[in-house]
Amino acid sequence: MDSPAIEKSGTEPGVFNMPDYQSAVRQFSWDSARQLLDGLPEGKLNIAYEAVDRHVQHGMSDTIALRWIARDAQRKDFTYAALAQLSSRFANVLHTLGVTRGDRVYTLLGRVPELYVTVLGTLKAGCVYCPLFSAFGPEPVRSRMDIGHAKVLVTTRALYRRKVAGIRKSLPGLTHILLIDDDSPSEDTMNYGAMMEQASASFQTVATDPEDMALLHFTSGTTGKPKGAIHVHEAVVAHNITGKYVLDLKQGDTYWCTADPGWVTGTSYGIIAPLTNGVTMIVNEGEFDALAWYRILQEESVNVWYTAPTAIRMLMKSGDSIAAEYDLSSLRFMASVGEPLNPEAVVWSNRVFGMPFHDNWWQTETGGIMIANYASMTVKPGSMGKPLPGIQAGIVEKTGQGVRELTKPGAVGELALRSGWPSMMRGYLDEQERYRKCFADGWYLSGDLAMRDEDDYFWFVGRSDDVIKSAGHLIGPFEVESALMEHEAVAEAAVIGLPDEMVGEIVKAFVELKTGYTADDQLMLDLLGHARKRLGPAVAPKEIVFRENLPKTRSGKIMRRLLKARELGLPVGDISTLESDEK
Ligand code: ATP
Ligand code: MG
Repeated sequence: MDSPAIEKSGTEPGVFNMPDYQSAVRQFSWDSARQLLDGLPEGKLNIAYEAVDRHVQHGMSDTIALRWIARDAQRKDFTYAALAQLSSRFANVLHTLGVTRGDRVYTLLGRVPELYVTVLGTLKAGCVYCPLFSAFGPEPVRSRMDIGHAKVLVTTRALYRRKVAGIRKSLPGLTHILLIDDDSPSEDTMNYGAMMEQASASFQTVATDPEDMALLHFTSGTTGKPKGAIHVHEAVVAHNITGKYVLDLKQGDTYWCTADPGWVTGTSYGIIAPLTNGVTMIVNEGEFDALAWYRILQEESVNVWYTAPTAIRMLMKSGDSIAAEYDLSSLRFMASVGEPLNPEAVVWSNRVFGMPFHDNWWQTETGGIMIANYASMTVKPGSMGKPLPGIQAGIVEKTGQGVRELTKPGAVGELALRSGWPSMMRGYLDEQERYRKCFADGWYLSGDLAMRDEDDYFWFVGRSDDVIKSAGHLIGPFEVESALMEHEAVAEAAVIGLPDEMVGEIVKAFVELKTGYTADDQLMLDLLGHARKRLGPAVAPKEIVFRENLPKTRSGKIMRRLLKARELGLPVGDISTLESDEK
């Protein structure tokens, strides 16, 4: 990648939580990261205590923990004290229902305050929390509750009617359904509000063991059937330190994570990390809307913003001039996760916001950020950055028996992490064999291909399933997509390999255009020429087609496997997480 590096200033003490990456790496230990939290007597640990009640103990009762912006733009604030009390009430509700330690509590809710209270109350009660996307259909809802042995579900009347009522009989273990907007009593459901009112606002947080199960998170389903990753209370150590080191969160900050709590970013970085770091977090109920988003950044004086490449590309699509109409001077740090962030997007943000988006990489399985661009570190646009202090990342290659590390800069191989950090998954639900296969010779194998350069920066190449082999070249879709994105007409691109007798696979690109451009033959030739010039004839797409929409998961990831299956007339597989489809 050849976009110039973006240098940083302000490495003097006090400016950034991690002023110097190298010395942080040298000094880091997970034990010292544990010391940043209070813990509970006798070595116990509970995420909810660290996120909320701890701050009340330390004099932050009146600090706003959560500012909710409703669809109608009304705001509602919750202080740390209010969240502590509400979550205690919910823990008491569970207690009254006979729901005990280890039982599974699910939500099927949009971004509403009750979701946050439920998560924290569930953890306080020593139960296990699992989010479901509110937009899932009945089958994905059923299968996830079945695999995870759901006992309690918190949802709304409308969602219950549409998605749960019909499948309820097949879930005998689901004994309690609480509706947050229940106005008419029914045999099958309970009234969340009424139960909360009756419950006491004081609760002794259950002294969970750091290794007790706390969270169940299903993966995004980008490459196939979603897997249920198990996480434990100790994960909070990683959430807290990554909030500090990667997102540079400081007490008093206003922070906005745009991820839906239906997937792991929305929990790790939309609830736990910001709260353990004592910030005010913004929760926006509404969907993506460029103007509304800029308005929130301005009106709420957001300091730290964590979003995703799809949203960034949509902001780019809406044009540079819009951003200039807003006062975004409160912004101090911006980060992105979920998909590779094209260098073009980093360069764009540096121009429009006066600072780059900082890409970072992690997975549902890793529970927290593993590789990142840090506030104090030079950004190389297109790179995911460097491993978190405490994390050893490597590029490996499978051998007959195990794996071999590829230490030469520039070598492409599977991105692997030395096992043993606090937020690492402890298993896949019901899939022991699959879990076992993720490990070899002390490494956790991510399933992503990457490369490390001579300065130890990591570069994403593609998911191992998506990499294209053509005429002896290994082509990462990300590289081709990024080159296409450099063209002024391109808003978004997805690249796949199609079987070819001569060269093994040929590269095909699906391109979504920015507003104001017409999908015609002239533009296609222009794009083919641009790609050939940028990438060379062996790597450039042989074919480009225009689409108004690319198929994406609900967490905003392009589903290349779906484009490929359709091209080849093959079964499309599990599409339970499909959100937008091609047009
Ligand atoms: P599934 O495992 O079900 O196919 P998924 O892998 O998309 O779904 P997640 O755990 O939500 O589910 O996503 C993690 C994956 O997202 C990573 O393995 C990687 O492929 C991609 N990803 C996340 N962040 C980045 C990033 N900064 N750069 C490149 N890829 C990223
Ligand atoms: Mg995955």
